[in-house]
Amino acid sequence: MKTNFKPLILTAITAFAVFACTSNDDSSTSADSNDTDEIADEEVVTELHAAYGAFNADAVTAILSDDGTEVYIETTGFPDHTSIYWEEDNALYLDETSAGVVKTTQNTYIGGGQGEAASFTVDAIPNLTGSTVSTQLNTIGIAVSGASIFNDQEGAGDLDDAAGSLDWAGGHKGPGVYHYHLEPTPISSDDDSLVGILLDGVFIYGRQCNSTGTNPTDLDASGGHTSTTQYTAGEEEYHYHIINEVYTTGNYAYTPAYVLFAGPFQGY
Ligand SMILES: [Zn+2]
Ligand SMILES: [Zn+2]
Repeated sequence: MKTNFKPLILTAITAFAVFACTSNDDSSTSADSNDTDEIADEEVVTELHAAYGAFNADAVTAILSDDGTEVYIETTGFPDHTSIYWEEDNALYLDETSAGVVKTTQNTYIGGGQGEAASFTVDAIPNLTGSTVSTQLNTIGIAVSGASIFNDQEGAGDLDDAAGSLDWAGGHKGPGVYHYHLEPTPISSDDDSLVGILLDGVFIYGRQCNSTGTNPTDLDASGGHTSTTQYTAGEEEYHYHIINEVYTTGNYAYTPAYVLFAGPFQGY
């Protein structure tokens, strides 16, 4: 594994950074601006963060931009674990009806062509100095499995009402991308495993922190704090955790359950 992560951080003056949060990288050219107000400091890195080595390489591709300021991430959206949401003849199909899972969709399934692929660009170094940003009812991050992370809301209604459709991984589909709302237990189950990366460029880990081997008690409102992780080579870095607070709902088939991420984003 190429995980020789060096936290070598340089500072560059670049206009590119101004557009980093709001547009695709192809539309951001660094040389066509004559407005000096658009020049900003941007931290750059020289290597892709070692945590990307934990992602399912069959689904997820991460590429560091040439100038070291951003990471382009794309995924097929297909998780690498079993679920009732695979088609029944797929090797990863798991019949969870006996456990009580009631599927949300009739004629859709993972890989069924409902536009599950996704891509986005994050800052290589999250901006932790600005104000917080609320999460939205859509993909808020990509898990190491390759599937989407959603927040604690359900588009068609309260998450409580949809909890009966969540599979053993805390995810469901319907009819868009397969996505997790709860602690995705195939990835992390009360341990310190990397769960994924959120759209603000901050990594999210399981309920335990590698720095202490325990459930952290110093988390902010987003489940974040600053400490070393197994991917930072001894350096401290801001990251999120799944908050160790039981999500009480009567109809989730697998308990106890923990909300994966309720926000707000701290890294925009
Ligand atoms: Zn959902
Ligand atoms: Zn931690």
